[in-house]
Amino acid sequence: MRSYKNNKKLSLWPIMGLAISLSTSPAFSHGGEEPTPKSSKNTYYFDAESGMLNLPKVIVGDKTYSAELKQKPGVLEFTVDNAVLISQCRLLVAARLFDGIQLHTDKALLIEGNIVKQVGTQAELAAQCDNVTDLGDATILPGFIESHAHITFQNVDAETVLKHGITTVRDVGGPSLAATGGHGSLRLLSSGPIIQAPNGYPTNLFGGDASHQAHDPEASTEGSHAPAAGAHGAMTVIGASVETVEQARETVRHFVEAGAVVIKIALEPGGEHGAPWSSNSHGHGGPALPWPMLPLEVVQAIVDEAHDLGVTVTAHVGENEGVTLALDAGVDEWSHVPCAAIDESLLQRAADQGVKVVTTIDTLSNCMGIAANTTSLAAKGVTFIYGSEIGHNDVPWGINAEELHSILHLTGTSPLEIFQSATSKAGETLGIEHLGTLVQNAPADIIAVKGNPFEKFKPLEYPDLVISGGKTVVDNFSAQ
Ligand SMILES: [Zn+2]
Repeated sequence: MRSYKNNKKLSLWPIMGLAISLSTSPAFSHGGEEPTPKSSKNTYYFDAESGMLNLPKVIVGDKTYSAELKQKPGVLEFTVDNAVLISQCRLLVAARLFDGIQLHTDKALLIEGNIVKQVGTQAELAAQCDNVTDLGDATILPGFIESHAHITFQNVDAETVLKHGITTVRDVGGPSLAATGGHGSLRLLSSGPIIQAPNGYPTNLFGGDASHQAHDPEASTEGSHAPAAGAHGAMTVIGASVETVEQARETVRHFVEAGAVVIKIALEPGGEHGAPWSSNSHGHGGPALPWPMLPLEVVQAIVDEAHDLGVTVTAHVGENEGVTLALDAGVDEWSHVPCAAIDESLLQRAADQGVKVVTTIDTLSNCMGIAANTTSLAAKGVTFIYGSEIGHNDVPWGINAEELHSILHLTGTSPLEIFQSATSKAGETLGIEHLGTLVQNAPADIIAVKGNPFEKFKPLEYPDLVISGGKTVVDNFSAQ
């Protein structure tokens, strides 16, 4: 690693007739080689074109720039390490390309900087980019989205998750965090702590109640990130207790302000056989059953407030009582297929109300009702979203092929639909345009595997190519 001062005026390419230049002395550090200025249109040090025009934000170090950067040329200082560094274009060619929606054959993918520029045939795109990688008999896919994880709470190594094919994680139960990552690091979006009844699940098992921070107007932003002392020692926050409608609304507002992309609630009286959370409560000194539940009026207030703020609500439910509460309050999504067998009439209501269900079937495989619930929900036309509970002991830190298999066997849907549930359908609710797809202007979050993952899921756990926001993280193709 070396760095040098570039005292030259660095001109960036004219953007829609507006020339931007940086007349400060940007300090570059670059992985061992000096950036070589070229007159080519494809050469930038800073991704002004795609970053400013195609993404809502440009993150430089700890600052976020948006359109105002256009008004203030010359004020920008950055290093290549922490800026959105553009590489030259890259044209990936493979036998198969899944764009998040459809499977194509003999297509090429043009990436420029941190975005997808175009999908087309190699012949169509060759003129735009001469940096071609032919992956051969391989399949290009969008990076997978894990919609039910506890990365932060369980101290899961984000880089491991990324290298194993997950480019975006929705952390549902953990500290309140603004969105991070997406440029060579795991894109992490959060719900903040799980809103729950006082003394209820999950803090009755895990400790770490954040409710005092959520309700204390004096609490600093830093405060909500600080580890709280839980039953198992220092631990980040997992739950936030609310008692009243007003507390519930205030907590939702607080979490959304802090960056929550979804609000999570727990409606869990405990006692389902085979559930990971039940095993903790059996035996020595577990909390007495039934665990306290939020009353309907409080759940309704949470849903109303969240919807007013433009975010959806996902509920941890595992049996009939929690499911009924969620349906009565108009909750948008279940964070799991329920563990206990659920009444058919309730599953039908879920289908009729358009409830989406995050799968997490693998980690709940000992649950009595998991198979029947999954099969029945599928038959009723419910939309599933792929989720594997990264952070639980028994699932891998990355794409979980066993989860994909379970969905396939229990729902009878196609691999294509299952991959959609882990890409485009998962991306729809996360507020980043085109996330989970490989269409024009989508984030360049890309994986590729040798062979055909539509016939065999397992290789997805060890992708041969992982690109996050245009930055290559794994590349077994170029190494050959
Ligand atoms: Zn969970």
